[in-house]
Amino acid sequence: MTRTARCCCGQLTITITADPVANAICHCDSCKRRTGSAFGWSVYVRDTDVGTVTGEATPYTVPTTPAATRTFCRRCGTTLFWKADIFPGMTGIAAGAFADAGMPAPTISASSDKRCAWVELPAGCFATP
Ligand SMILES: [Zn+2]
Ligand SMILES: [Zn+2]
Repeated sequence: MTRTARCCCGQLTITITADPVANAICHCDSCKRRTGSAFGWSVYVRDTDVGTVTGEATPYTVPTTPAATRTFCRRCGTTLFWKADIFPGMTGIAAGAFADAGMPAPTISASSDKRCAWVELPAGCFATP
């Protein structure tokens, strides 16, 4: 099944040609700042399952250890996809950017020690510290 994620203005898109191998939310400070929300919601796909990328993609390397290079739309500011050194061979994509593609609920909750007290996890979601 092909799914397409796109930025708010639509100039930057990324298509995946297979289901993600991981579907996770993360409560860390960096994910909160990236999204401006209570947590980040990400899917990871194998690089070989990334179809086409259209539009102008601007990279930003996050000075974390290990590092990650995020790709965003310079026009509207959406961070759409990224490469994280801890996940070689994988591409992370902002799951909410698949707004009309019916991405299933996340199964992993990372950085749970930073979870806002009012955030409830979906049934069956495995929480990691
Ligand atoms: Zn945009
Ligand atoms: Zn995070």
